[in-house]
Amino acid sequence: MSVLNLGIIGGGQLGSMLSSAAKRLNIKTIVYSDDNFSPAQNFCDKFIFGSYGDKEKILEFVKEVDIITYEFENIPFETLNEINKFKSVLPKPSINRLIQHRLAEKDFINNINIRTTRYASIEKKSDMETLKDFFPGILKTTTMGYDGKGQYPINNLNDFKKLNLNLTDGYILEKLVKLKKEISVIITRFGKNDYSIYEPIENTHENQILKHSKIPADINDNIFKQSKEWSITIADELKYIGTLCVEFFIDRNDNLYVNEIAPRVHNSGHLTINAYNVSQFENHVRAVCSLEKIPLKKLSNAKMVNLIGKEIEPYRKNLELNKNQFFFDYQKKEVKEKRKMGHITTLI
Ligand code: ADP
Ligand code: MG
Repeated sequence: MSVLNLGIIGGGQLGSMLSSAAKRLNIKTIVYSDDNFSPAQNFCDKFIFGSYGDKEKILEFVKEVDIITYEFENIPFETLNEINKFKSVLPKPSINRLIQHRLAEKDFINNINIRTTRYASIEKKSDMETLKDFFPGILKTTTMGYDGKGQYPINNLNDFKKLNLNLTDGYILEKLVKLKKEISVIITRFGKNDYSIYEPIENTHENQILKHSKIPADINDNIFKQSKEWSITIADELKYIGTLCVEFFIDRNDNLYVNEIAPRVHNSGHLTINAYNVSQFENHVRAVCSLEKIPLKKLSNAKMVNLIGKEIEPYRKNLELNKNQFFFDYQKKEVKEKRKMGHITTLI
């Protein structure tokens, strides 16, 4: 059988981990990124550097690959759609377009009768005046946000006025949920009624950036079941192929809300590399490359901690790990504040 060439758009740590998973399945990976220092170039078979609007460079990439996937959602729809005319892009570009826009994403979730936080589109300054019962709230850009970027807490009208934002960029106001807990569910869909689903993962954030993940999540049976059911419904409605993550809020009255969907492998699922027989990365590669699905088996409970910014440094210098601990260094050249540099998974 000839070797399969998998194209991955985006060159961050998720691209690295997808490349490593593909390698173990004897699939070659070609990563395309607009960052010449992408860490994934250390893990893939071939790296192509170019902007996401550079048609010639992208065509060069398309010629090299059989199938294309992506590791982050903020890729222009036009680019994915253009590529899809030549080689199949999975998950479908239309899914990416829907989910990369917070308003369209939340409308979609509500239309299939799944609860989200209350939200409203903010198009002009006066919109805010009629939305006082959304305070305290969070104002978010409708596109391009990640790790809490492009988010502003709004307690009153004055907070909003002080920001002096250009509203033509597109914003959404969400009512703040009094959080008891955050969880996520990762699901890999292979086709109709054919998926692998991981158990809910409990997540804690610091400064809106994921810090800790663990399984099992400390949640009641209803939330355990409901979060999995909603994730299956979302994946089915989207006719999704590949790995998807649904992030949830649980409020102090044990109400469950979908926060957002990530149409890709997800940071909270890093622990699946060590805690399951098949990781979220391997499952994604298997699904988009039409390989066989392997029955999912949990091997251990686990917890993961993200190493952010300088936190990586002591581990790079002097690594002391127990047998049940696994250290991942994303090999990013520059240590930056708030940047995810690596993680440690501990089997418990
Ligand atoms: P990002 O795309 O940056 O991950 P999220 O919408 O997931 O954006 O927000 C990041 C984090 O900020 C969430 O995981 C949560 O901790 C907090 N947060 C965001 N929106 C709300 C909200 N409406 N109520 C309570 N906490 C929120
Ligand atoms: Mg999020």
